[in-house]
Amino acid sequence: MRVLLITDIHANRVALEAVVQDAGAVDAVWCLGDVVGYGPRPNECCVWVETHAAITVVGNHDWAALGKLDLDDFNEGARQSTLWTVEQLTPYAYQWLDALPNRYIEGETTLVHGSPRHPVWEYLLRPAQAAANFEYFDTSVCFVGHTHAPAIFQEALARRGEPSYVPPYGEPIALTNGRYLVNPGSVGQPRDGDPRAAYAIYDPDTCVIEFRRLAYDVELTQRQMREAGLPESLVVRLARGL
Ligand code: ZN
Repeated sequence: MRVLLITDIHANRVALEAVVQDAGAVDAVWCLGDVVGYGPRPNECCVWVETHAAITVVGNHDWAALGKLDLDDFNEGARQSTLWTVEQLTPYAYQWLDALPNRYIEGETTLVHGSPRHPVWEYLLRPAQAAANFEYFDTSVCFVGHTHAPAIFQEALARRGEPSYVPPYGEPIALTNGRYLVNPGSVGQPRDGDPRAAYAIYDPDTCVIEFRRLAYDVELTQRQMREAGLPESLVVRLARGL
């Protein structure tokens, strides 16, 4: 089975389309949240994910667009883009986002946006955090998003204090040596210094994952953001991958 694993699209339709084309034929799409926020095409991205994804969990920016999060926790750019997104969202997109679960278990896989401990909000960055989070899910693999950086935490390594690692792109990696917390990286707003869109292809039958990165037309998304009047700081960071 070939699953397209995407997260943190952030209303970047151009990046999403590039990823879908690059992924080729898949049996299912799983989305780890933050479909909206920051980017210029929230409704189009909601419609695409709603139509194509078998599983979608909700992210903090999705909640913010629904008015379920206090915007005081957001920086100025995120706050402004959220207010813009709230104005844009159709009732259809609003209702779809509002019905999304914050955790989904599919066979031996758990899906959340942030972490299994705090599904919508926690950033999984440090090994001690990851080690603690292995107590909060029962499956062999848990997929997360939220940090906008590809990462693998293996349970035994995290318990020894080893940081997460990113395997080489385009190579199959077997998640078969214990349990794992895995982040495929962000489709629409990477923050690891690499502006290329990130995603993964996963086979839940064999537990083999392949991380992928691809260049897309960042300038087109930037033009759409400027036309929408979104904050310039967000436009600029997209080209830097920060
Ligand atoms: Zn995000």
